Amino acid sequence: MKKFLEEFKKFALRGNVIDMAVGVIIGGAFTGVVNGVSNNFIKPLLSFVTSLGKSWGTLADGETAWTFSAAGADFLTTIINFIITAFVLFIIIRTMNRLSTIGKKPEAPKAPTTKKCPYCLSEIPIGATKCAHCASELPEA
Ligand SMILES: [Zn+2]
Repeated sequence: MKKFLEEFKKFALRGNVIDMAVGVIIGGAFTGVVNGVSNNFIKPLLSFVTSLGKSWGTLADGETAWTFSAAGADFLTTIINFIITAFVLFIIIRTMNRLSTIGKKPEAPKAPTTKKCPYCLSEIPIGATKCAHCASELPEA
């Protein structure tokens, strides 16, 4: 059991899992926005379009036609929600991946090339044995 927990910790702490979790959380928050847009804009539009069929009287029973239209609009709304959410998630994760590679690149060559002189606190080359500013002898770094 302890080994299992350790393995899980290793798995959970890997960068991309955390990225993914953040993506899922952002996606979850975004789903609310998408739902709001859909329910207030796309769904009424679809209901209007599908109810046109009803008013053309293709079905004899008006009640049944309306129920069918509403269900069809709900279904289409769900699909549109899914597509929008998936698309935005894709963009967010892609952006995050790009940002993380941009953030990592300049760090690699960032080995220190200077140090501080302990006497005058000036920046001097890391290999210096004598300070260029105050001429103090420096202990080997
Ligand atoms: Zn100095």
